[in-house]
Amino acid sequence: MSSTISRQDFLKVAGIGIGAVGLSELGFDVAQATMVQQQLHIAGATESHSVCPYCAVGCSLIAYTRTQADGSVQLLQIEGDPDSPVNEGRLCPKGATAMQLAVSKRRVGQPMFRAAGGTQWQTISWDDALNRIAQHIKDSRDRTFVTTDAKGKRVNRTDGIAFAGGATFSNEEGYLAAKVMRSLGLVYLEQQARV
Ligand code: SF4
Repeated sequence: MSSTISRQDFLKVAGIGIGAVGLSELGFDVAQATMVQQQLHIAGATESHSVCPYCAVGCSLIAYTRTQADGSVQLLQIEGDPDSPVNEGRLCPKGATAMQLAVSKRRVGQPMFRAAGGTQWQTISWDDALNRIAQHIKDSRDRTFVTTDAKGKRVNRTDGIAFAGGATFSNEEGYLAAKVMRSLGLVYLEQQARV
């Protein structure tokens, strides 16, 4: 009589062996699972519905917050909204990190400026940043504005400035931006849909 064990027999024995280990050994203890559920850090938190700001897909989010004893509101968690027909609870890697927009210590919270040829960044005010941008736009436009092309046809355009819209633009913001840029004479307009 052969003492060899078939592959099928081996799998049966192995299955029994694994079953004998028990669910608790594998971390599936029901009592423990209940305890973990009671300790969820979003238990009792306020749910606020929002939309991912990163791209035009517009995935729905749920933000969980809790008011602290000192009255401040702490953001606990952001996750996909399972009731959304857009994303059905899912988020892409960018959306899954949306919470970092609020809590990351590495996030730059103010405009930064580095002079041409410089090596150091400096923090500037929003007014300063907007004034600098406006001045650069005006200077470039004044320097490069073309009223007529080589054939004498009126064109009123500037090739010296290009515009790229952000992926978080709404329809209305995109429409407004395109109108403003066209009114300045820009012809190079692009929109970052999603990367
Ligand atoms: S960045 Fe990702 S999660 Fe956010 S809206 Fe776009 S696809 Fe959805």
